[in-house]
This record gives sequence, structure tokens and C-alpha cells, in this order.
Amino acid sequence: MEKERKCSIRNCENNAIRSLSPIYSKILIKAGFSLNEESNRLYLCKEHYKELKKLKSKEDRLERWRLKG
Ligand SMILES: [Zn+2]
Repeated sequence: MEKERKCSIRNCENNAIRSLSPIYSKILIKAGFSLNEESNRLYLCKEHYKELKKLKSKEDRLERWRLKG
């Protein structure tokens, strides 16, 4: 049985609800979050997952603008 994971955001004590590819940690770091480094997966609690989704949609929008040229 897998034990409960904590959120990968430093100083966050919440249990993770999502396990994500570590590529998303770049987005979080760019936004000013610090991450615990011990894991090669990104674990996020509900709050920080919401935060990431917000940041990700912003990135996607920028990407679209850039492609529009
Ligand atoms: Zn968290």
C-alpha cells in the first residue's frame, strides 16, 4: 500500500491529491514557489493543484499569443 504523500511545495503540510510529472514544477518555481526536492514526481495538495491549474492556463494563453505571431 502506498503511504500518503505530502504536497511537494515547501512548508505545505497538506496531503497531496495529485501526482504530476515534474515538468510542471518549472511553472511553480517561476511563480515563486519553493519545492521539496526529494521526489522525482510532483505531488500537489488541493490548494496548490488549483494554483498550478491557474498558472498553467496563463502559460497556455501566453503560448497561444506567441504562436499567433
Ligand atoms: Zn500544498
